[in-house]
Amino acid sequence: MNENDLRQIADCYPLAGRKPQQADTVIRIGRTAFGGGHFAVIGGPCAVESATQISVAAGVVRSAGAGLLRGGVYKPRTLPYSYQGIGEKGIAMLVAAGRSQGLPVVSEITAAEQIPFFAAVDVLQVGTRNMQNYALLQALAACRQPILLKRGLSATLQELLFSAEYLLAGGNPNVILCERGIRTYDTITRNTLDLAAVPLLKKLSHLPVIVDPSHGTGIRSLVLPMSLAAAAAGADGLLLEMHPDPEQALSDGEQSLNPDEFRQLMAALTQLRSVTGKQTRLADDQ
Ligand code: PEP
Ligand code: MN
Repeated sequence: MNENDLRQIADCYPLAGRKPQQADTVIRIGRTAFGGGHFAVIGGPCAVESATQISVAAGVVRSAGAGLLRGGVYKPRTLPYSYQGIGEKGIAMLVAAGRSQGLPVVSEITAAEQIPFFAAVDVLQVGTRNMQNYALLQALAACRQPILLKRGLSATLQELLFSAEYLLAGGNPNVILCERGIRTYDTITRNTLDLAAVPLLKKLSHLPVIVDPSHGTGIRSLVLPMSLAAAAAGADGLLLEMHPDPEQALSDGEQSLNPDEFRQLMAALTQLRSVTGKQTRLADDQ
């Protein structure tokens, strides 16, 4: 495929493409921003497990200089017997923990009926299993909050951008694309992190593109190198799982950083800034 072919593909996206909008979309959330030279880090546990766990996590996220706090309360698990999440009451815990540290919060929504519970959540995450849940996308298009749209685990980049079109066409211009690894034949890593997706998506679309190396690899020790690689590839941010005590985590402990590892990663990202030219820390931490 040559550059001309790529330009033709870019014409397939009436709203998400670079043709209708040349300039990068910048999505500002609290004191952070994604896109247009801004780089933001979302950190926190896979799942909100208790008020104490999420408030400790929020303290680590804030002191390390990351911009947003994450935590799932509805966990779409492959096996119905796995931990399914704390549910609606976890949203209040997440929001309180975030507010106490001045951090906007991100959480995954798995059904349109949950929208009222997410009123105080700053960014609504659509998980890999729901990227092509068009009824959910249409419902979220009417929400005022930005949407973090994760790539389906077997989705092409074309399909990811078509899903983004659903949100944009329905009236929500604030869509953050997330590469989180795709299914390949390898069995050692949980997924294969497709970092070529970053510059390619940014060529085709004006939307910010972030990377989730936690689900993208499934292996804690790979999260730091792949985070740096994502930043070097031009990503506009990262989604990182960090648990105060990963060994005790109710989900995804094996890919979750501990607080020290999270701080080391933030420090390494700050050093990379001289290469990428993107801001990685909160403005008031400089
Ligand atoms: C998550 O972010 O915790 C999650 C479930 O991600 P994904 O949808 O990418 O598997
Ligand atoms: Mn997870």
